[in-house]
This record gives sequence, structure tokens and C-alpha cells, in this order.
Amino acid sequence: MSSRDNLVKLLSNLLQIDTSNPPGNESNAAGFLRDWLSERGVESEIVEFEKGRANLFSRVKGSGEGPSLLLLSHTDVVPADPARWKIPPFSGAVKDGYIWGRGALDMKSMVAVETMVFSEMADKRLKGDLVLLAAADEEKGGLGVKKMLENSMGKIIADYVINEGGGEGVLTKKGWLFDIQTAERGVFWYRVQTRGSPAHGSVPGLGVNAIERMRPLLNRVSEFKGACERVDPSWRYVESLLKMMGLSVEEVDVNNIEILLNKLAETDRGLGESAKAMLQVTMTPTMIHGGVKENVVPYECNLTVDCRVPPGYSKERVKNMITGLFHGLEYELEFIQESEPTVSPVDTPLYRVIENSLLKQVPGARLEPTTKTGGTDSRYFRRMGIPAYGFQPLMVEGNYYEWSRMMHGDNERISIENLDFCYRVLKQVVDSFMSPHHG
Ligand SMILES: [Zn+2]
Repeated sequence: MSSRDNLVKLLSNLLQIDTSNPPGNESNAAGFLRDWLSERGVESEIVEFEKGRANLFSRVKGSGEGPSLLLLSHTDVVPADPARWKIPPFSGAVKDGYIWGRGALDMKSMVAVETMVFSEMADKRLKGDLVLLAAADEEKGGLGVKKMLENSMGKIIADYVINEGGGEGVLTKKGWLFDIQTAERGVFWYRVQTRGSPAHGSVPGLGVNAIERMRPLLNRVSEFKGACERVDPSWRYVESLLKMMGLSVEEVDVNNIEILLNKLAETDRGLGESAKAMLQVTMTPTMIHGGVKENVVPYECNLTVDCRVPPGYSKERVKNMITGLFHGLEYELEFIQESEPTVSPVDTPLYRVIENSLLKQVPGARLEPTTKTGGTDSRYFRRMGIPAYGFQPLMVEGNYYEWSRMMHGDNERISIENLDFCYRVLKQVVDSFMSPHHG
């Protein structure tokens, strides 16, 4: 079997293991990967931190002449509703040049590629330690990586990390533009609660309606519009994107960035909206609950907001922003998740190797750092001062809007071409960075 067929089979098998989180059941994927590696003579370890929930890792020793590298991935996926899919989400079907299944892009394809590259490098002479970690629970809080860092940090820690979160190439009027995720927005999920007092629904004047009290809060969240700020690293990417799409950025002031991005959104809603979200604070009301019965005046209402902030926003600044937004209203505020933005430096040897490796595969392409709009496990490493890069190289096929909706959406699939591309680039990166005959 060719290595390409091997990779397709590895991914197809991984996609057939249902690791929907919750509940996860990542132990099944970890066990499968251990057996797969073992068949190729590579030892690995499984660490189960809860019943059915396990991480897989392996570490091969380098000579110590160079830095160590961790290939990081997660094996869990978000749930999929089979009724909405053309091909069952856990079939791993290979059809018309595509491999289908929940996780095909986010991120079992990268699990497969990293595992393959690791197995091929494991018996080579390496300058530094090479580490593989396929972690559980990324989609629901990152318990897998957290547990590894708490209990077995020494086994997985490395000088650099490559993970998901970037690496997407879009074809612009002026060629391919790829991103590499070097920063993450901060995540501040919060809940506001309003209180009232119950009464019979037929005589509303006797009670105080908590839903009515929520109305002005919800309105202010809806009306909130974060300004697009020229913050790096995202601005570097967005500026290139606008230029390469033929939109002039030379003479626009800060307020006009949004006009340009709206224009971009007219051509490709996915590109325009993502670029906007990278540069601004967003507040999305995601859940609202109030009332207990048809004929009771509700005495409690809860609104949950998914708030994300670009680099430069501390916890303090976010709190002030939220209390400012609700100024003059009566409510209680509670944070569900508080995670400040994280940033990795761009001027590192690994960054340059990634750039060169990409250019070898796609001559003339451009690579720019970004802050991706969502969060990944990279943040734990960045907080320790370890440069972590989101780089899962893929060439976006067609419209970015349609493409990006496959992740956490319906009919997720990856072309064999793209899987192979991801493999070729990452193999080149690891080989160039770790092999003694390079650099
Ligand atoms: Zn993911």
C-alpha cells in the first residue's frame, strides 16, 4: 500500500470511531492509535484520566543539538446529527476523492498526519526530542491537555508546539494566502441574571417580570459593536488578504477597515466575517432561560453571552467593558470562563521553517500570522512561554464560507488531495526542523 493509501485508511478508521464530546470516549481512538503505532514498531503510552477518556502520547529522544517539538492534536469531535448528513457522520466513507466524517477537518485528519509523520521520523536521528500528543476533550474545555500538564508535564513538554487552528490557504486574485495561528482571542463566557417576583400570570401587576427586566440587557448586547482594531498579528493577515483580494487599504483610517471588510464579505461572507471577528471584540448572546410555567410571572431570567476579545484585552479591561455596557441596569454578573488572549512570537526558527516548507510545496504562496476567532489547546503552552503555532496546512476548496461551515457543521469531509498536501507540508516541516542534515 502506498503511503498515501495508508494515510487515507488511517483517517477513515479514525473517523469510524465515534468520539463525540460529550461524552468523548477518546480511549477508543487512543487505543487504536497505540495499536497502529505499535504495528510500525513505535511505542506509545495511554493515559486515562477518566473512565473512557484517554490521551495518547509518545516521545522519541533526540541528540539534544536542537530544540524539541510537540505535535499536538485532539481526538474528540463535536456531535453530529446524522439526519442532516448526506453520508453517515461516522462512516469514514471514501467517495469521489473525499473522506467523509465528523472530524475530517477538525481535526482527525491532522491526528492522522501527525501520527504518520511521527511514525516515519521515530527511528531517524533527530536533533531534538519529537513528541506526539493526541489529546482528549479539546472541544469541551481541554481537560486532556490540562491533565497531561498537571500529571505528566515532563513527558510531553517541548520547546515548540504545532497544533490546529491555522494553515488554511485561500486562493486570492494574487495567488495563495496561507495563515498560521500565532495568537488566540481571549474567551470570556458570562451570564447575567435578572430577578423579579412571581405572581399569577393573569394579574401581571402583582409581580415583577424578570424577562422584561432582561430585555434592556439583551438589547445592549445585541447593539454592541466592537470596533475593528489594527491589532497584530491578525492585522498582518487581514491587510495582506485585503490587498491580495484587490481592495485598497493604503489610505483607509481605522473606521474604514470595516467598510472594506464588509465589501470582502460581499464576495465571500466567510472571509469577510472571520476577518472582522479577528480584529474586534464580539459579544454573542448564545442562551436565554426564563420562567417556569405558562401562567406564572417569571422571577428569574438568565442570559449567556459568548464574549471574545483580541490580544491586548486583560481580564480587568473586559470586566470594565461589560459593566460599562450594562451601566444603570439591575443585574448580577457571573463569569463561566475567563481566558485571556495568548500570543506567540513570529520571529522563531520554527516559524521560518514552516514558511520555507510551505513555499517549497506552493511556490509563490504568502504566509501571514493570525489570531483565529476560536480557541484551541495552544493557549496552555503559550501561557508557559512555549511558542505554539496553529498550522494544519489545507488548501481551501471553493468559497470560504461553505468551507468553514463544514467544521462543527454538516457533511464534514476532506479531499484526499488536501490530506496528502497536509502530510507533505508537515513532513517537510518536521524533517527540516529536526533532521541533523538540515540547518
Ligand atoms: Zn479542533
